Amino acid sequence: MNATDKRMQPGILSETGFLAGGETVRGVIEQDARTLKELGVTHVQFADRLEALFGYATLAAEDGNDRSSIDDLELQLHSWMGYQMCPFFVGDERLVSSWCGKGSRDLVITDAKRGLSASVPELAIHMIRDHSFFQGSTPYRVDPRSIAELLTLRPGVRYTPVFEEVPFWGTRVARGLSFFQKRRKKNVIERRGEELYLIAIRPEELPEELDGAELKVRRPGVYEMRKLSRRRLISAPT
Ligand SMILES: [Zn+2]
Repeated sequence: MNATDKRMQPGILSETGFLAGGETVRGVIEQDARTLKELGVTHVQFADRLEALFGYATLAAEDGNDRSSIDDLELQLHSWMGYQMCPFFVGDERLVSSWCGKGSRDLVITDAKRGLSASVPELAIHMIRDHSFFQGSTPYRVDPRSIAELLTLRPGVRYTPVFEEVPFWGTRVARGLSFFQKRRKKNVIERRGEELYLIAIRPEELPEELDGAELKVRRPGVYEMRKLSRRRLISAPT
């Protein structure tokens, strides 16, 4: 058992871990690779299809729906409070941006007609695509055989989804309004280099877009924001 195997045992990076006691990364990867060969599908196909389904669920969530459906699949998205980082990373764990992969949501995928269902952590997309890893015998394992059946993965089909980059102003710091700010009547929008300084007195009067990026402020307050971007699904083959 090497350092990566040890890190993935229960109770180190997460309570359940990424491996069950005694399993090794290499052993799990090799076993699953044999299953994929038998099924005639690839790690990329799994990752692409799951990424597309997360993409559809995210579009629905942006409209306020945690439940949605696409073709015969019902999707239910659960967001966690924090991020789960990829356990393969071995570097400075204080730098969130330097981790090779992360996830903050689970997607429950159900095909009611066929009586099939699975819960998939977002991090699985990265771990399958970049590390060929479906996890060991833990509650978060993405079992390739049952997922291939649920998603009706077919040999030779390219499932790569198409995404667009959507720029938006992300909040870096938010505070409530001071006594003096509350007496003002107007919003204040100030550019400070790459950042946006905003005193939102009447959020409903703010523009929905600023400098080509979405601006969403719901509550009065003082905001320091930074321009970020997120990927939005455009289309995906099925
Ligand atoms: Zn990784």
